[in-house]
Amino acid sequence: MTVVIKLGTSNITHRTGHLNIRHIEQMVKVISDLKNAGHQVVLVSSGAIAMGVGKLGLASRPADMPTKQAAAAVGQCELMYIYDKLFSEYNHVVAQILLTGSDIENDGRRKNFENTMDRLLAMGTLPIINENDTVATEEIAVGDNDSLGAIVACAIHADLLVLLSDIDGLYTADPHKDPTARLIPRVEAVTAEIEALAGERGSGLAVGGMTTKLKAARMTARQGIDMVIANGAKPELLYDIMEGRDVGTRFLGKKQEGWV
Ligand code: GLU
Repeated sequence: MTVVIKLGTSNITHRTGHLNIRHIEQMVKVISDLKNAGHQVVLVSSGAIAMGVGKLGLASRPADMPTKQAAAAVGQCELMYIYDKLFSEYNHVVAQILLTGSDIENDGRRKNFENTMDRLLAMGTLPIINENDTVATEEIAVGDNDSLGAIVACAIHADLLVLLSDIDGLYTADPHKDPTARLIPRVEAVTAEIEALAGERGSGLAVGGMTTKLKAARMTARQGIDMVIANGAKPELLYDIMEGRDVGTRFLGKKQEGWV
């Protein structure tokens, strides 16, 4: 199976911006094991800006573009250093790919990306992708790694996209406010009712960005790719997700006319 796994900043760093060693070590172990079992894995990893904030000793996430880009430049380096170090312990070779939205929109550059991915996977490496934050200003950025994960999953014709963050999945209501809120295990189609559950960005339910996750689900569904939203705090859940067991929320991928 070919799977794209997106790790959110909260899965990699503490709120200080420093590395969450326990989380990342467990995650690397499970992903290495999935590769050992014969799966092709591609990581889309956030965390560059946060790690830059930690390493530079900044008080908070920068608001202005040049500082954000400087933090990403420092943090991306650190991020890949950590991945290289940890995956090497399990004999896996990592490869860094940095993309922007304009790379995907341009046919020639997208083809180059797809060719490189094909070759990296054929060589058995573990591609680790992030937005090229040091050059991606708003006009040319994908903007969020949920969408980037979906773009990558479609480009390489993956079987599955897993979006890991600090939320368990999609709920029927805001679980912070409504004790009757239930986790929705399976979504057949991203309808207007499902979209309404995402709420506003920044509201309790939207923590982790449910809006961008539903956008990603629409993209993968059109290509017949399943997508799962799950909590990255428990990396061993990836085993169950790969076997199709109910974990988090699974959006079924199927090509159909008139998909929203
Ligand atoms: N590219 C950003 C970073 O690495 C994260 C964007 C996102 O998580 O959506 O810091």
